[in-house]
This record gives sequence, C-alpha cells and structure tokens, in this order.
Amino acid sequence: MPAYDFTAPRLFVEAELRAGARLPLDRAQANYLLNVLRRKPEDPVLLFNGRDGEWRASLAPSGRKSADLDVLERVRAQTVRADLHYLFAPLKSARLDYLAQKAVELGAGTIRPVFTRYTQGERINLERLRANAVEAAEQCGILAIPDLAEAVRLPEALEALEAERLLVFCDEDAPVSDPVAALRGAADPAAPPPLAVLVGPEGGFSEEERARIRARPNTVALSLGPRILRADTAAVAVLALVQAVLGDAR
Ligand code: SAM
Repeated sequence: MPAYDFTAPRLFVEAELRAGARLPLDRAQANYLLNVLRRKPEDPVLLFNGRDGEWRASLAPSGRKSADLDVLERVRAQTVRADLHYLFAPLKSARLDYLAQKAVELGAGTIRPVFTRYTQGERINLERLRANAVEAAEQCGILAIPDLAEAVRLPEALEALEAERLLVFCDEDAPVSDPVAALRGAADPAAPPPLAVLVGPEGGFSEEERARIRARPNTVALSLGPRILRADTAAVAVLALVQAVLGDAR
C-alpha cells in the first residue's frame, strides 16, 4: 500500500477541486471537524469528490460552528472504479449499512440491490446506501465512489450482466469444495474477466432462482464452506476470496 496519510481526516465533497478554491463546509462537516475532531486553523484535511483525485486543504474556521476549506494541492490522482459488481438481496437496515460499507471497503465498484423471492422488504433506501458507501470511502482512502445501480429483480439483474462478466454465485446449497480452486477453474488469474458477485437474502435462494442463476453461462456456484453464513458475513467472505484470487488483492 503506498505511503498514505491516514492521520488527516478525509471528506467527500461534491464541489470541483482545484488549487486556490475556498469551499464552505456544511454544518455537519464543520461540526465534525471543529467540535468532534477538534481540528485547529491550518490543520490539514483531505478532500475528494470522486472525479478530481485527492486534495490537501487547510481548515479556515469562520466561527464556532462554521468553517471553510482552502484547497491547496492535489496529493493523489483520481482512481477508476474497480470492475467488480456486488449484487445483493437487501437486508434489514443496520445489517444493510454494514454490508454496504464492507462491499465498498473490499473494492466493489458497482453495488446493485437485487430483489429475490425471499428478500425481506420490497424497498431500499438508496440515499442511505449511498451515505454508507461515501462513509466507507472516506474512512478507507477510497477515491472512486461506487456506482449504485438501480434495484431490480433477479431476472433483470442477470440480464444486465455482460456475457463476458464472470458471475460468482454464492450458493449455500453448493457442495463444500475448495473455493479458491473453483475460482481459479472459472477464470485465468493472469487475465481475469470483469467480475460480479451475488449473495442471497437471509432466506436464501429458491430452487427456481438457483436453477436460473446456474443456467447462466460464465457463472460459478461457490461454496463458502460447511456452515451457513449470514448474508453480510458471506459478503465479506466472498469478496475477500474473489479479490485474493481474481481481483486487486493478488
Ligand atoms: N438458505 C439459508 C438457510 O435458509 O439457512 C440461508 C441463506 S444465507 C443466510 C444468505 C446468503 O449467504 C445465501 O443465499 C448465500 O448467497 C450466502 N451464503 C451463506 N452461507 C453460504 C455458504 N456456506 N456457501 C455459499 N454461500 C453462502
């Protein structure tokens, strides 16, 4: 991992970033820097907007609860989103927050909620999902905010995958076998294809869904071991495996 300044707080901003710009902070951001982190004038803050790379800025308090940021210099070039799609059946809110943050930390470049037969609930709060993705990016030095794809039903999600994209299907009914060997057998680690991962809801996949997913060419049904994992645990396990064998953790 390149030397990286994890001591300075990182903030995601929507504004364009260029040397000399002065950015007013919103109340929440000002409160966080001034009163939570107790940053002082001139303290460095790192800014990113998902487009212009990462910039060092200095804090210019303009009151007890307000501050601006003076943008100084770019310290990291913008990175591109990883070509790793994370497809998941929505969970109840607190666990969904966790799942969204872990998917971002583990390098998902696109996050897509997928409604399946046993998914709990029929709605998803995309604003909340995005807020969790941004928070994970701020905390983990990530510059490319993942794309939050529209929530769809399973058939549409499968349809939307390009033919060349390898789908790693976490199938709790798959016979226990070596997941590393299964991934190595599904794609060439020296030239991995675009990737997608699919994790089901707490109630798992129906037999009809399982058959439909397995019928898709370029799909590998992966066992994550002899125990049934909670969906958010499965998310972390499969993303770590995929990144280690075919992704950016090699
Ligand atoms: N169908 C299971 C049951 O009824 O006990 C529960 C599903 S599990 C809580 C949620 C999702 O995590 C599954 O649909 C699957 O995608 C993934 N998962 C959990 N354990 C797994 C395992 N051992 N192997 C592969 N995937 C697993």
